[in-house]
Amino acid sequence: MAFHARFVADSVLGDELRTNDFARPVREQRRAALDQLFRSEVLVGGTLGATLYGPEGRVTYSTDHALIGRASRRPATSMETSVQEWAGTKALNVYVPVRVGQGEAGTFALHQDYGPIAASARKAFIPVAGVLELALIGLYLSLFPLLRRVTRRLRGHLEEIEHQALHDGLTGLPNRDLFRRRIDEALAEAQQRRTGVSVLLLDLDRFKEINDTLGHQSGDLLLQALAKRLETLIRDTDTVARLGGDEFAIVSPGAGNEGDALVLAERIRAGLEAPFALAGLTVEVEASVGIALYPDHGDDVEALIRHADVAMYNGKKTHRPMLYSPKDDHYSPDRLALVGELRRAIANRELVIHYQPRVELATGDVHAVEALVRWDHPERGLLSPGEFLPLAEHTGMIRPLTRYVMDAALADCAGWAQEGLRPGVSVNLSARDLLDADLPREVESLLSKHGVDPTLLEVEITEHTILTDPERARIVLERLRDLGVRLSIDDFGTGFSSLGQLKRLPVDVLKIDRSFVLNMEHDDNDDVIVRSTIELGHNLGLRVVAEGVETQETWGRLAQLGCDTAQGFFISRPLPRVVLVEWLKKRGSEEPPRRMRLVG
Ligand code: C2E
Ligand code: MG
Ligand code: MG
Repeated sequence: MAFHARFVADSVLGDELRTNDFARPVREQRRAALDQLFRSEVLVGGTLGATLYGPEGRVTYSTDHALIGRASRRPATSMETSVQEWAGTKALNVYVPVRVGQGEAGTFALHQDYGPIAASARKAFIPVAGVLELALIGLYLSLFPLLRRVTRRLRGHLEEIEHQALHDGLTGLPNRDLFRRRIDEALAEAQQRRTGVSVLLLDLDRFKEINDTLGHQSGDLLLQALAKRLETLIRDTDTVARLGGDEFAIVSPGAGNEGDALVLAERIRAGLEAPFALAGLTVEVEASVGIALYPDHGDDVEALIRHADVAMYNGKKTHRPMLYSPKDDHYSPDRLALVGELRRAIANRELVIHYQPRVELATGDVHAVEALVRWDHPERGLLSPGEFLPLAEHTGMIRPLTRYVMDAALADCAGWAQEGLRPGVSVNLSARDLLDADLPREVESLLSKHGVDPTLLEVEITEHTILTDPERARIVLERLRDLGVRLSIDDFGTGFSSLGQLKRLPVDVLKIDRSFVLNMEHDDNDDVIVRSTIELGHNLGLRVVAEGVETQETWGRLAQLGCDTAQGFFISRPLPRVVLVEWLKKRGSEEPPRRMRLVG
């Protein structure tokens, strides 16, 4: 038992314990870590528990948490034993002085249930027990030098294994486990000094594309080069780690506030600007960066990593390093409450659909309307899709939501047909929808449920949506196309889809993103983009729709450029179903050339 205590103190604890563990009663998080360490490494057989004492004799940690913080014994200078009650049980206690790092740190104690020891001592002759104990001590002393050598070698091996366990094989950077440890250490120090810590998460944009086009080997080379580059961009006190895939992370105890963190993020961004040379090719990379700060955004490892991740995800949209903000956090308690409400909203049919007409520029005819979902929230009023779609997309609610919208839009489409109106309807899909192989079957059954001609249905997908998994998306889209459903690429020009990809997809329509159309009157570049997109679409045999047409001038210019169809506030805002029917009837009765009026 004494031997066990000494061995534990020498080999296991010397590495695992920190000076801080003896300096003051440990915090809750560290206490949990120590509980685990002791449970897995130390507590064997009849061992009741273990205790750490600081240099002044205060209990800084004990497996019996009630003892933590109590002052109870002077520090041990060499191994000592006692038979005394411990945590309500008579125990054999062994105290061993422990060094952590260089100096003397405190005392480590193991408490062994005395009952079985006493019983076996009583059973045997007590003198025999005494002799045995002496013999054991003799044996221990004689074996000590050998043991030290073995321990040293063992420790060498252990260090190697530990290095492997805590570092990433490809780049040699610390891995996720070590990264968490480093954050933990930085937090302990920051707490003491009342300073801050920043945690940055980096994710390469388009790494998958690089990997797919240049091959995995080049992908690996890029990650290695990137790791080296990142190491040159941080300070000695910072740690850069690879968390997996193309995700890297930095913990910086030096960057303790927003300003410092943003400066660091900017240094990283600028540092990644120079292209990487890979086997004769130069590759440019860009990374999205998310930042979470201690103490503002969280005070433990989990919260900081998760919040930096949320910020990074938002950074992907803005292409700027982003600080965590609870309002963008889909998992914050507020948002979680909303998830429950959204589920209820779908069940209670609180989601409503507004329809925005699309008008043929040449004839003024309306061949189609776009279904745009809104949430008629009992307390918050009418919520726009931007306020709840990201939530639905993050929580698996998007599939039921899409089904709901599709069902309602097809029901309305069937209703219009009965009133002698015949616009088709287009429904927006999200990435998750396209990854679901069941979608085509679902669409087919909704079409037949409402008796709508499949050619009247169009689905809109963004370039971004396809990029998540182009192969799977293509399969789903082809099956939709086989049903007769039309397909349009929404927000065209904002993503990265290549012409090659576009050509491979069964697309019928390109919708030019409204950001280009809105400004084309004032911005020559936007005008050029719109013009060339129209040409591109026509060359590929597609029809081209311009979104965001707000003025007569834009309408005129689009007509001049030969654009096929326009959609925007100049023609009509998205309208509730009943209002749309009125609007369509009124237009139908007007004689061409129809005047464009602003409605809504
Ligand atoms: P989107 O598909 O690009 O839809 C067009 C958006 O532009 C609509 O915003 C519409 O109100 C707005 N818009 C139309 N004309 C103009 C204009 O002249 N000027 C300006 N400034 N804006 C105009 P909304 O309804 O807020 O929808 C935003 C986005 O939410 C949609 O963009 C679409 O991506 C998504 N969305 C809407 N409904 C659904 C849905 O049922 N399912 C899915 N997955 N996404 C949807
Ligand atoms: Mg759309
Ligand atoms: Mg759009």
